[in-house]
Amino acid sequence: MEPANHLNQPEYGAIERAPVPRNMIENSMFEEEPDVVDLAKESPTNPIDSDDAVYEPRNSRLLVRGLGENDLDEDEEDYESSARLLGMSFMNRSSNQRSTSSPYTRQQPSGLCSMPSAKTLVVGVLILVLVASIAMVIYFLPGCTFTRNGCKKDNSTMDNIYPNSTSGEPFPWTDLRLPGGVHPVHYDISLHPNLTSMNFRGNISITVQVTEVTNKMVLHSSYMNIVKATFQGKEVKILEYKPWQQIAIKFPEDLQKGMYFLNIIYTANLSTSYDGFYNSSYVDTTGAKRVLATTQFEPLAARKAFPCFDEPAFKSTFLIKMIREPKYISLSNMPKAKTTDLKNGLLEDEFEKSVIMSTYLVAFVVAEFNSVSKNVSKTTVSVYAVPDKKDQIHYALDTAGKLLEFYNTFFDIDYPLLKLDLVAIPDFLAGAMENWGLITFRENMLLVGNDSSPIDKQLVTSVIAHELAHQWFGNLVTMKWWNDLWLNEGFATYMQYTSIETVFPDLDMDTEFLSIRFKALANDALNSSHPVSSIVKTPEQVEEMFDSVSYEKGASILLMLNSTLTEEEFRKGVIEYLQAHEFQNTKSEDLWNSLTNVSKQPFSVAQMMNTWTIQKGFPLVTVTRNGTQVTLTQEHFLLNAKNAPTHDSLWHIPLTYVNDSCSALSSCKQVFHLKDKTATLKLPDQVKWLKFNYRSDGFYIVHYDNEGWEALIEALRNDVKVLTHKDRASLINNVFALSRLGKVPFRQVFNLMEYIKNETETAPLTEALIQLGQIFRLLDKRSELHLVSRMKSYILVYFGTLMGNQSWQLESSVSKMTLRSALLEMACSLDIANCTQQAKHLYDLWTAPNSTYQIPSDLMRTVFKVAAQTEEGWGVILETYKYSISDPEKHKALEALASTQDVRKILWILHKSLDGSVIPTPEFPLVVNAICKNFAGYLYAWDFVKENWDKITQKFPVGSFAIQSLITSTTSQFSTKTHLMEAQNFFSSLGDKGSQMRIVQEAIETIKLNKRWIETNLETLQEWL
Ligand SMILES: [Zn+2]
Repeated sequence: MEPANHLNQPEYGAIERAPVPRNMIENSMFEEEPDVVDLAKESPTNPIDSDDAVYEPRNSRLLVRGLGENDLDEDEEDYESSARLLGMSFMNRSSNQRSTSSPYTRQQPSGLCSMPSAKTLVVGVLILVLVASIAMVIYFLPGCTFTRNGCKKDNSTMDNIYPNSTSGEPFPWTDLRLPGGVHPVHYDISLHPNLTSMNFRGNISITVQVTEVTNKMVLHSSYMNIVKATFQGKEVKILEYKPWQQIAIKFPEDLQKGMYFLNIIYTANLSTSYDGFYNSSYVDTTGAKRVLATTQFEPLAARKAFPCFDEPAFKSTFLIKMIREPKYISLSNMPKAKTTDLKNGLLEDEFEKSVIMSTYLVAFVVAEFNSVSKNVSKTTVSVYAVPDKKDQIHYALDTAGKLLEFYNTFFDIDYPLLKLDLVAIPDFLAGAMENWGLITFRENMLLVGNDSSPIDKQLVTSVIAHELAHQWFGNLVTMKWWNDLWLNEGFATYMQYTSIETVFPDLDMDTEFLSIRFKALANDALNSSHPVSSIVKTPEQVEEMFDSVSYEKGASILLMLNSTLTEEEFRKGVIEYLQAHEFQNTKSEDLWNSLTNVSKQPFSVAQMMNTWTIQKGFPLVTVTRNGTQVTLTQEHFLLNAKNAPTHDSLWHIPLTYVNDSCSALSSCKQVFHLKDKTATLKLPDQVKWLKFNYRSDGFYIVHYDNEGWEALIEALRNDVKVLTHKDRASLINNVFALSRLGKVPFRQVFNLMEYIKNETETAPLTEALIQLGQIFRLLDKRSELHLVSRMKSYILVYFGTLMGNQSWQLESSVSKMTLRSALLEMACSLDIANCTQQAKHLYDLWTAPNSTYQIPSDLMRTVFKVAAQTEEGWGVILETYKYSISDPEKHKALEALASTQDVRKILWILHKSLDGSVIPTPEFPLVVNAICKNFAGYLYAWDFVKENWDKITQKFPVGSFAIQSLITSTTSQFSTKTHLMEAQNFFSSLGDKGSQMRIVQEAIETIKLNKRWIETNLETLQEWL
């Protein structure tokens, strides 16, 4: 699966605001409270004609008064927050499921009342946690615990304390994971969706193999009405335990080993969320509403479409039949075998029996679609879209064909199916989903118009490359359980970059991959991060695995391994792994073992890589040099070391380095394996400087002694070309990270940045802009107006000339487009006259009567954002958003709409994207993300998310990347004590709707780090800017 792309979007645009609304908000905060109209709850019908109601963000009063006031002192605050975190992590460990009775919710702090002494508080908290946990254990014991006959008590283990099923009888199973003695072998599934009444009827026959004598069968089912169930032809009673989405059959006598047949007839509604078998709709260009039905099963939603053993290790074959009206087509994983006329106005499509696969990869679609096809070796590749967009499917077809050929060769195993469909779904939450043979996409991740730019194509190509890689990594060989999700996602992400570098070198994926590695480092530096392979039990924990660690860190450590082995060794190991485990399930160590087998290196790949997958975080390597003697030390790079556990992590680091005599070519690279805490490296000759982590291929950060930094800075000032552009970007990234860690003073950052005036390459420049943009937004949201304006001057001194030199004409180089869109987006958001005038000029050309002018695609977002700041411009962009059939254009229009300073419009767009009436609900996280970049809207967005949390979690699963994105967007720029408390209070109140999510801990940790950073660096900034 590929998350929606906004999560990966770098943020250059520092601020966007007009002075008027800001002053208005600030002034209103100090007035006596009027009757606050809660627009977060009441939707204004139209932003244009909404009345004069003044909406005050609920937290704004608190916020402004909180600034500069010391509500609580530091210790008290730390206490309270660590107590909360303690409560949270305790909950995580002790409970298999989400609780409504969180200890966290019972300790609502009064905030301003006098605090007890620290010691009392700790003891108090511990007691509370203890009491709460005992209460929880009691609470979670099934009801039968306290009845005389409810629970079967053969022995005294917890396993046999059975919960009550829906009918009141004891449910014969007590674990979220299914028992292992019964395996599905084959499913026959016949489905009849009704796209008028939005429900469906299913008839499923499952062939199961009993491998251990048992008297029960347990499988998954969710939101289904079971009409009839038979086992070996005899009707049986189905017990259901809804909280775990399980059904079971209890047999009067033991089932002996052998094959059996279970048949279930059931009905269900098409899902109204974005998983399971769900209905999707859109309005076509004639204004008519069209409906379709499609699926999204990963990770846990196949059970919403048919009863099944819904764990990735229960692989099986599937034969699917779909009943449909003649106006629709149906698609599934396999090619269609035949169509039967049922003589009642309906047709039945039957698909060929599938290969052996996991349930989460099953898929079907019933819709009105157009398609194009071509043959690639023995596979027919097709791309499908709604009829209005049939002209935008050709690029995807061509690209998928080339990538399929590449993978067939690279993996040395042919794609095993005779067809491969790529389908653009109008209403789709993820970016794309790799269902075997039937890959589904968000429209803007697959469709490319004739006038789309290479930068739009870069996105589509990379999503196709990711999903195609999954056909091997994920589909052919699948992780045993979700704890090793990275085997799917890390590898697909890694292949997405490396395949495109080979097949489409013009798309400059190399720079993109570098920025992904930097992003992964930033996320993994938090104490609340987790190991690549983590313990996963609850559905929410499964959802949470779809995060930066599984995708981006997974891909990063594979790159590090690839550059440590030879290309050929790496590829051979991968091929051996795929061949050894095809159609089976694996753990991380299976991959490492295959690579160890083929490797001729003097170290064990498995031992080295285990240090990267089993431990969370990554190392900081400190380099101190005394002549030719270099001392290397490693420690865990942890931004918030204060609250971290004290055990020492050690990594096997394949350290690479270059020096002043040979530095830019890959033949200059030397390797030193650092496995211990400290080691000494003896250089053969004297050198002026050393640069470690060549091209930033390794997943670690490097710190030098003063002389080391000075020598590198000096070398760069003399000639930027002494290092590769990736090495320059990594120095910038590392020095900012080190200043955040407190290892280097902020003036060291300024010191290094001096060289940037001579920089011309995209990677280092965009990295510098991202880093400065982050600080900028932090200062801006703190209302440090004086510093904000000095920061603006600073950026202008260093980037002003480059900003001014950018062309506004059509451009064909992806690298140049990436750079200029970053520079110009920053320039226009800083309201630099040159930039906004040019943007307005392009907008005028575009809107002129009878104009055929096309805004260059990479400039479109900047131009639209500038235009959307006026009443008229916003209206035009809204029309563009509504009626454009070009998805890249729509997307940029939506971001521009969300960049408005007008509070009424901000609220309108929040409402419309959550209820899905004008803007599809899957865009809600993007809308919130775009709003939160600006001062004008971020508190409104935060309030809105809080007020509407119940509604939001009905649409997006708790823990999912949509929820992760919402929390990060709304809280990552908070840096005050008041906001910290507010976030803690809100998250603690969520109970089973998210208080235990890892992203919540990350959010709290990030706010604390922001607060600390501001406190530490405000003075330096005042001095240096
Ligand atoms: Zn994926």
